[in-house]
Amino acid sequence: MPVADYKTYCRMLDRARENHFAYPAINVTSLTTANAVLRGLAESKCDGIIQVSTGGAAFASGSSVKDMALGAISIAEHVHRVAERYPIYVALHTDHCQADKLQKFVLPLVEETERRRSQGKPNLFSSHMFDGSALSLKENLDLSAELLERFRKADLILEIETGVVGGEEDGVVGKASDKLYTTPEDTLQVASRLNSIGGRYLLAATFGNVHGVYKPGHVKLKPAVLRECQEAVMREYGDAARFFLVFHGGSGSGIEEIHEAIEYGVVKMNIDTDTQYAFTRPIADHILKNYDRVLKVDGEVGDKKMYDPRHYLALAETAMSERVKQAVSQLKATGTTSYNM
Ligand SMILES: [Zn+2]
Repeated sequence: MPVADYKTYCRMLDRARENHFAYPAINVTSLTTANAVLRGLAESKCDGIIQVSTGGAAFASGSSVKDMALGAISIAEHVHRVAERYPIYVALHTDHCQADKLQKFVLPLVEETERRRSQGKPNLFSSHMFDGSALSLKENLDLSAELLERFRKADLILEIETGVVGGEEDGVVGKASDKLYTTPEDTLQVASRLNSIGGRYLLAATFGNVHGVYKPGHVKLKPAVLRECQEAVMREYGDAARFFLVFHGGSGSGIEEIHEAIEYGVVKMNIDTDTQYAFTRPIADHILKNYDRVLKVDGEVGDKKMYDPRHYLALAETAMSERVKQAVSQLKATGTTSYNM
């Protein structure tokens, strides 16, 4: 199917919250990883979200170009074309963009969407994240409000973050502090600043999440923080103000915590570390098992079939698509596609 338009994406999010499941939002950096996500979603009969980080987008533009906006456009155009061949909906999203990168990443992409809309073409991306979690809440919400005003006019959904996710992602290291847990007071401020604007937004409220790699059990998640935030906002602004939440830094978290977070309104879970590993695992296996055919050892010529990148990248695509299917199942989203409904 084509990439989800605004109405379809909104319906996807509404259905997830009503029916207590969440969409995987998987980071991609290349054609092969994007294809792996589409395949995994299609085989799970589940809609989903493909996302690109600033670093991933710079990588996709080529190591001598390193233009994050260009790389993101390139991946998005690929997804727009090939998504037509899969019987599911996919939304296109850009991941964490700190304030100092807005000019180089999100804003040029919004301009690109605005230009396309003025020519009667579909949006390039469906949604963008602004990560103001390193700023004061006031500065974070000032910038978020400004973006949401603009996004509303272009049928774009905004994702924001309050509190700080620990760990490291894309070279950005989170600081350990009390901001690891969002407070109901913080999220009430979010609602009071953003809800009157009328655009649609998703909220990544931290509840002890950590970006990167940890063994299961290491991460001290407190999903109840999300419930407290939802209760507070509904008490103050009514049921309609209930947040659509995003789960960041979920690698290594247990299935019970994931399910609990879904009960409290998580509709999107970011997945990167686990699919990165799934992609690389069969490549390592291939090379270690066949090193004397992948390499030209002792004056031999190797085996062209074994070092052709297609050979091991196809194995990686398959393994990553399997990991996507596992994520879909953990998020209780298998078979939930709204395509053809
Ligand atoms: Zn985050």
